[in-house]
Amino acid sequence: MNKRPTALITGASRGIGRGIAEKLAKAGFDPVINYRANSEAAEEVAFACRELGASPLTIPADVAIAADRRRLIEETWEHFGRLDLLVNNAGITSPGRHDLLELTEEGWDQVFATNLKGPFFLSQLAAHKMITAVQEGVQPGGVIVNISSISAIAGSTNRADYCMAKAAMRMMTELFAVRLADEGVRVYEVCPGVIESDMTAPVREHYEARIHDGLSPIRRWGRPEDVAEVVALLATGHFSFSTGDRFFVDGGFHIRRL
Ligand code: NAP
Repeated sequence: MNKRPTALITGASRGIGRGIAEKLAKAGFDPVINYRANSEAAEEVAFACRELGASPLTIPADVAIAADRRRLIEETWEHFGRLDLLVNNAGITSPGRHDLLELTEEGWDQVFATNLKGPFFLSQLAAHKMITAVQEGVQPGGVIVNISSISAIAGSTNRADYCMAKAAMRMMTELFAVRLADEGVRVYEVCPGVIESDMTAPVREHYEARIHDGLSPIRRWGRPEDVAEVVALLATGHFSFSTGDRFFVDGGFHIRRL
């Protein structure tokens, strides 16, 4: 059994997931760096985590595929013998960003499988391991963090599937929080605003202008580290009498203004 706590972060080869993996490595976790295809980027993250004193493991797995999810959890368990934290971060935007009147079923299935079904069933698998590890005294507790989005509360008609999948994460977070409270596992939702990453790179100019015009009260791009800070606080027991909560990391975007 690993001495340091273990954190499985999905989609940790780039962007927000990378920021979270490195922040957690610094905070004393050994991270499992999951990715889908980009092994070079994942190895770079592993190198950075090693430099920070952690012993990372990289595992390619598509969270949208059931057999991959099972293998991801089993390989994590075999290697570390514990699972203190799951961060459901991997996600894709709406393919082609089509207007909702042109949205395709293929795109819908891809988004829902990656952004909602994957996190749900991965949480289920992780929860079983966390419950066992807590009952056997291997680890003091468990935490699940779901990376949602401001798109859960703000509609974009060119990303309807994305917005709906993220909105459903709210109920998913509350359901797992209630079910796992007696098991010593806390569950949170983190909603980033507009964050600099490969996901937002194609729409950079569009957001640049809107941020300048006051899209969020704090007029700047969010960075992966901004989200990572919050995840690390949640993961290290700072909110031990809170579960099911939603945390915005969005420069105040969610505040209604007149
Ligand atoms: P990103 O830069 O596009 O990175 C996506 C990461 O997820 C990569 O590591 C990618 O792996 C991985 N990934 C994609 N599909 C996967 C799958 N099916 N199975 C496993 N891994 C998969 O994205 P990001 O901007 O960091 O976004 C991360 C999360 O934050 C997403 O859930 C997103 O919805 C959410 N979010 C982002 C923003 C934003 O402004 N960027 C705002 C709100 C919420 P490969 O490298 O192998 O492709």
